[in-house]
Amino acid sequence: MTRKYLYTVLERVYRDVKPDLSDIEYLLGLENEEDMRILFKYAEYVTREYCGDAILLRGIIEFSSYCNNTCLYCGLNKYNKNLKRYRLNKKEIMDSVEQIVSVGIKTVVLQSGQDDELNIDEFTDLITEIKQTYDIAITLSLGEYEYELCREWQKAGADRYLLKIETSNKSLYESLHPEMSYEKRLHCSRNLKLLGYQLGSGCIVGLKNQTISSLAKDVLFFKKEDFDMVSVGLFIPHGKTALKNEPLGNLNLTLKMIAVTRIVTKNALMPATTSIGNIGNSDQRVLALNAGANVVMLNFTPKQYKELYSIYPPNGNINNNAREYLNILEKTAKKINRELDYSRGDSIKQKQKSHV
Ligand code: SAM
Repeated sequence: MTRKYLYTVLERVYRDVKPDLSDIEYLLGLENEEDMRILFKYAEYVTREYCGDAILLRGIIEFSSYCNNTCLYCGLNKYNKNLKRYRLNKKEIMDSVEQIVSVGIKTVVLQSGQDDELNIDEFTDLITEIKQTYDIAITLSLGEYEYELCREWQKAGADRYLLKIETSNKSLYESLHPEMSYEKRLHCSRNLKLLGYQLGSGCIVGLKNQTISSLAKDVLFFKKEDFDMVSVGLFIPHGKTALKNEPLGNLNLTLKMIAVTRIVTKNALMPATTSIGNIGNSDQRVLALNAGANVVMLNFTPKQYKELYSIYPPNGNINNNAREYLNILEKTAKKINRELDYSRGDSIKQKQKSHV
């Protein structure tokens, strides 16, 4: 196909309210270096047009590694009996929140496995206390919970929720999540939307038996569900899971997926995921920022627990010293003509809707 055809497809995918599946498949299938460069550049323009030049900052606290889920790709899954599990107490969490605030970040992400032993009342009180102590946004990433409970957490002060669909292909989802239900995950996601949470979804690129067509459908799913945030991660095999012998996800395909998602969803907030920083010989999250991402998450889990939150094996690329990393990121941002944004970084979609 000619370069002219590439531009025609890019324009069409950008313009169409319902982009064509085959156009998205075509873009995800690009192999030529120059074609990919054009795709990433196009996505960067769309990012600047709809989200500005800002790189939004989040601080994540992985407060519990207990998990009752079965996700075959994840080291936290309940079959991994080798893993020492932990749950942070309130003081440890509040100390970590204080560190996030002390470097100027105004969003805390509280993440855990699907922790069925979580003390619900204590957790709700924790949300209240964080909101009473600090003027910051709270994102929850805890897994699947009932509507009523999510409403309680929202009343207590939670602003956002991250619940990745991982793949929108029901049969692929079910092959990778035995005993779990695609419908249940989708139902929870839609409940969160109904409640008015700023809602994030996302997928993993490189899952066993995943196809380009399935990824293209993920993009259309993100568009249809109108998520405020979309996180595109890259599969990293974990030695203590059923998928330990599967190959590492493809970086270029992940970047293409970020770029196409940006072009289609326009103003969704999209992180340069930690998984991308965690492969190869150096932190490559800047590649994601140049392909449509506009959020970076820094990890504030206390040092002694970080290794135990073993979603995938860390390779030492990620600089976990927040101040040092923010200095590095500041320089990186300058080089690529972007700037770090220390505001809360709320949903652009919701802001626009409230102005209508
Ligand atoms: N329990 C919560 C839930 O169900 O959404 C959130 C915690 S979960 C450990 C966080 C994310 O890690 C998942 O949404 C998944 O995309 C990602 N993840 C887990 N294992 C991974 C792997 N091997 N490679 C890349 N991403 C992975």
